[in-house]
Amino acid sequence: MKTHTVYSIVVPLYNEELVIDEMYKRITAIMDQTGETYELVWVNDGSKDATREMAEALCRKDSRIELINFSRNFGHQQAITAGMEAAKGDAIVVIDADLQDPPELILSMIEKWKEGYDVVYAKRSKREGESFFKKLTAKTFYRFLDHLTSVEIPKDTGDFRLIDRKVCDALNALPEKNRYVRGLISWLGFKQTAVEFVRQERFDGETKYTLKKMIKLAFDGITSFSFKPITCFTLIGGVILTAGLIAFLADGISIGLGFIEFSGITMIAIMMMILFGITYTAFGIMGQYISRILDESRKRPNYVIDEKIHCEAQTYTLSEQLNKKTAI
Ligand code: UDP
Ligand code: MG
Repeated sequence: MKTHTVYSIVVPLYNEELVIDEMYKRITAIMDQTGETYELVWVNDGSKDATREMAEALCRKDSRIELINFSRNFGHQQAITAGMEAAKGDAIVVIDADLQDPPELILSMIEKWKEGYDVVYAKRSKREGESFFKKLTAKTFYRFLDHLTSVEIPKDTGDFRLIDRKVCDALNALPEKNRYVRGLISWLGFKQTAVEFVRQERFDGETKYTLKKMIKLAFDGITSFSFKPITCFTLIGGVILTAGLIAFLADGISIGLGFIEFSGITMIAIMMMILFGITYTAFGIMGQYISRILDESRKRPNYVIDEKIHCEAQTYTLSEQLNKKTAI
């Protein structure tokens, strides 16, 4: 008989041979405390070390583990996407393998979920054991993204979060490819809340997020939720063009009234301003078109419905109303 799964714990794994056993122990110890059914969805993102063999060995011992082996390294965001697509639980938790996200926090997330929240994200109040460079780039990026986007994406949060089944289904239905999952979850809406935690040092091993992967994630975040970088040239071009035209008029009038002599250099500078202004404005206008093409090509739905409510209004015939009155 198939049992109902209450929780799915999705863990992306890339070259995590040094942490996998400890991660399994810590997560199962916590999840056993819930007294409810759960599954562990592990996505091995093309690891080149012993992660695959170790995960397969654990999978043979524990039927709660579902292991998905990618054919090569597709990246963290694709790994968690695959995990969420495979998850069967009523609530889905995404957590990193390296125990930087404390599994103990899952219990607080579950509490919030039971209170009625659909998304419970973990907000880092402090980061421990990470390099100055990592802390600085992360802090700067989250603030920069916040300025650029109209969707409110919570700052200092990664992908460590719990989502309700209905949010997971809505997320899985989004067809876009370059996924910035935490942003997409914010974009979906629903009832969201945070639990705070101190981000720990990695249990073992090195970060698997190379600078190249971090830059790709940052660009996915920005291009998925902001058109400002591509459309800002309209404003820059407009300002330069206006300044160039004002300078042209002022120069012409001053020469006409005999205040100054004609200067070839000044005229070249003014012409350059006007030409640059036109070019940048044209870039900006193209940006407006490109941003619309991008928007259409993503095929995001125009809206997401949480629930539809139809309350059947009680209607009475005239005779029923009269009967009611006489009964009173
Ligand atoms: N990860 C992955 N694919 C990658 C890089 C990372 O599945 O290409 C996984 C990794 O195994 C870990 C999580 O994503 O479970 C976060 O990676 P990491 O801890 O190295 O990133 P950091 O915490 O340093 O940002
Ligand atoms: Mg980590």
